[in-house]
Amino acid sequence: MVSEIGLGGIPIQRTTQEEAIHIVDELINKGINFIDTARGYTCSEAYFGRALQGRRENFILCTKSMSRSYEDMKKDIETSLEQLQTDYIDIYQLHNVKTEQEYAEVMGNSGAYKALVEAKAMGKIGYIGITSHSLDFLEKIIDTCPFHTIQFPYNVIETKAENLFKRAIRKNIGVIVMKPLAGGAIEQGKTALKFILNTDFISVVIPGMASVSEVKENASVVKGELSENEIEYIKHVRRALDNDFCRRCGYCMPCPQGIDIPSCFVLEGYFDRYGLASWAQDRYEKMNHFASECINCRLCVDKCPYGLEIPTKLKRVKRIFGK
Ligand code: SF4
Ligand code: SF4
Repeated sequence: MVSEIGLGGIPIQRTTQEEAIHIVDELINKGINFIDTARGYTCSEAYFGRALQGRRENFILCTKSMSRSYEDMKKDIETSLEQLQTDYIDIYQLHNVKTEQEYAEVMGNSGAYKALVEAKAMGKIGYIGITSHSLDFLEKIIDTCPFHTIQFPYNVIETKAENLFKRAIRKNIGVIVMKPLAGGAIEQGKTALKFILNTDFISVVIPGMASVSEVKENASVVKGELSENEIEYIKHVRRALDNDFCRRCGYCMPCPQGIDIPSCFVLEGYFDRYGLASWAQDRYEKMNHFASECINCRLCVDKCPYGLEIPTKLKRVKRIFGK
């Protein structure tokens, strides 16, 4: 059984190995037994690998890879095992699958899924999961997919996945909730977590944690009726972010200039709110097209269901990343 609150492993990149050890100490103290990391989070797997020495059995350890081919995934599973210093990863996920086309690739004969099935048969991984930011995509595959877990954003301003989560739970698929604080946009983390814990369609919610004090704060949240102040705060957040926060739904795509609009805003959040400027810059540099290429045709604005002023927001992305 997983604890209802787990640790999201993105922000650990900005801390130190020593702090990661203290964080793991505190997770054990607080009864938190779920850690989610990824091949793509630079030092995150390695930090947890060292921090978990001698207490690996206390945790359900979960990682993921963006690899799409059989050979690449096979290599990544071995790298994760090595970095995490373990011979067994509880859940290995296909990271951020966006479209049915990508899905066909990973599930094909030379696709990444085959490597995960083989690793499972060899006892190297326990369960296979998938993560995505596309609700449309997950809704299409949920009834027929072979996965043991799905991971998708859910928080006070992103609640569209409720039906998806209920369908998953009915199929005995574990629901891992990412972005519970909307990528750091929601400041009162305890209220945001309480809102999620009060639902009955999640298995575990994984706020990012990069310090012992954050572990303590998150672990202190218990489900229960929201107070008047908390309800007011949620209303305030919804009003403030409604027309400004990108939900990564992808409805604005494709952009004729080839700009990956939601990824621009995700990386902006990592730069701004997660304190991961150089990692975000590095990932931004690897994109094929940049915010600076926007020609203000406004095709995307008409398609965004939240009315985001995308070209204006992209100007800010251009300013912080320099292109
Ligand atoms: S306004 Fe900019 S981002 Fe939007 S579709 Fe046009 S070029 Fe792409
Ligand atoms: S800009 Fe709008 S349409 Fe595009 S991903 Fe974000 S919320 Fe969805």
